[in-house]
Amino acid sequence: MKLILLGPPGAGKGTQAEVLTEKLSVPQISTGDILRAAVKAGTPVGLQAKAFMDAGDLVPDSVIIGVVKERLTADDCKKGYIFDGMPRTIAQAQALDEQNVVIDAVLSIEVPDDIIIKRLGGRRTCPECGMIYHVETKKPAKEGFCDGCNAALIIRKDDETETIKNRLETYHKETEPLIDYYRKQGKLKEVGGEFNIASQTAEVFKVLGL
Ligand code: AMP
Repeated sequence: MKLILLGPPGAGKGTQAEVLTEKLSVPQISTGDILRAAVKAGTPVGLQAKAFMDAGDLVPDSVIIGVVKERLTADDCKKGYIFDGMPRTIAQAQALDEQNVVIDAVLSIEVPDDIIIKRLGGRRTCPECGMIYHVETKKPAKEGFCDGCNAALIIRKDDETETIKNRLETYHKETEPLIDYYRKQGKLKEVGGEFNIASQTAEVFKVLGL
């Protein structure tokens, strides 16, 4: 099965992608994770992407399309995959269509801006392993430190309030038009962006008939 998870930053795409990955035994392809790894490793893609990511702007389509094209050649993609955070522009969606990537369904998770600002503003990340916590909803055992590696948690640059606002603006301008794009293809499935992960997952399974 090939799925796309669509929605604003902080809608719960990553969490649902993880659940679906387990359920369907297909990999999650998160362009955000791929780019963060590239930045950390200092690869040419990482060097190109860093400034855009820090500002909450989109990384140019040509970079994303190249990264994804390469990822799709890996063996684990043969049975399908779940795109998380990709495509984010009409040009990226068209690139998938042109590569004959036939998507089965697009899950659009809708969450109002004010809730997103609360969610992302409270997010804390482990700089070592990438584990994500939240000051209200997913506290680590020891405040401020990762449960796994005990590293001091940080606020990712792109989770700072001003950056979140820019990411939301970018989402509405560049990514939201994809809802109509996929609705016209008859692939769109809409789910609410509940704060409660379990009920969001139940809704996701229901609309996908799982
Ligand atoms: P994410 O973790 O998915 O929110 O991605 C973090 C950042 O990586 C975004 O704010 C963008 O700067 C960049 N990024 C991730 N995926 C894409 C994409 N498909 N197109 C453009 N930029 C992306």
